[in-house]
Amino acid sequence: MKPAAFEYIVADSVEMAVASLAQAGDAKIIAGGQSLVPMLNFRLLRPSVLVDINRIPDIAYVREDGGVIRIGALTRHHQLETSPVIARHFPVLTEAMAHVAHLAIRNRGTIGGSLSHADPAAELPMMALLLDAELRVVSASGARTVAARDFFRDALSVDLAEDEIVTEVVLPKLPNTGWGFAEVARRSGDFALAAVAVTLALSDGKIAQARIAMTGVAPTARRVTEAEMLLIGQRLDDGVDSDVIEAVRAATEPPTDLHASAEYRRHLVGVLAGRALAAAWGRA
Ligand SMILES: Cc1cc2nc3c(=O)[nH]c(=O)nc-3n(C[C@H](O)[C@H](O)[C@H](O)COP(=O)(O)OP(=O)(O)OC[C@H]3O[C@@H](n4cnc5c(N)ncnc54)[C@H](O)[C@@H]3O)c2cc1C
Repeated sequence: MKPAAFEYIVADSVEMAVASLAQAGDAKIIAGGQSLVPMLNFRLLRPSVLVDINRIPDIAYVREDGGVIRIGALTRHHQLETSPVIARHFPVLTEAMAHVAHLAIRNRGTIGGSLSHADPAAELPMMALLLDAELRVVSASGARTVAARDFFRDALSVDLAEDEIVTEVVLPKLPNTGWGFAEVARRSGDFALAAVAVTLALSDGKIAQARIAMTGVAPTARRVTEAEMLLIGQRLDDGVDSDVIEAVRAATEPPTDLHASAEYRRHLVGVLAGRALAAAWGRA
């Protein structure tokens, strides 16, 4: 199908984009278009106005800035995947990006679009939670910062008003950590049936800080704080305790769909958590 008719506005500044959103009421931002255009074509969305942010200068970048890395909202998935700054500070994110869709989609899709769209099986919401990201959000009436842990509300639902736009994602640096990433999808480039990302920091040879995030197994990506707490003070030379794996499984609310049952996804996410933790322990 073709989309319903809409007015098309090319914004040349963030100010113009948010002013256009505020004026129209039911307008939509178009960034990479990789999620929005299918929804328009299926007529799941019928905005009266599309505000194109692709011509706004200087909102696609990866910058080191003291203790944080700043990522512009229009940064394409492929830019993140190939960024030497990301590879140096967040190799777990470099690894995750290779699992996002296919190269053609990664060439267009953006970090701002993926986080705002919040697909329950997408990798970037999981990585934003894992890395304690903060999002800078701008509207015609001002700017605010929202932590990733407060941003994702439900499947395809985030803390973003209709006249707000994400302009930047900020990741605090995470020195001296081991990392692990494990995902199963039915075919290369498909959305994950389940995926888990982990970082571990050690002190005196034992785990001092653990972060575990997962996607594909609940309405939104999730951090698994119970399992994280259980890991503190442990060593993983003899593998991961079953109570940690069970804590991961207990934090899921997996869907049953065409691709997998809820039981399979719950089992799978525990296996993936074990693999990601073992890899992170080895690197730490
Ligand atoms: C075949 C296929 C396979 C895919 N597989 C995967 C996968 O395995 N993993 C994965 O994570 N993703 C996957 N995707 C989705 C892809 O990563 C998208 O690029 C991403 O979800 C949306 O980014 P976008 O820039 O294309 O956003 P758009 O499609 O342009 O927009 C998506 C939504 O976000 C809003 N939006 C966009 N930018 C902003 C902003 N800066 N501020 C506020 N709102 C904004 C739009 O209004 C819209 O509602 C797949 C897509 C396709 C078509």
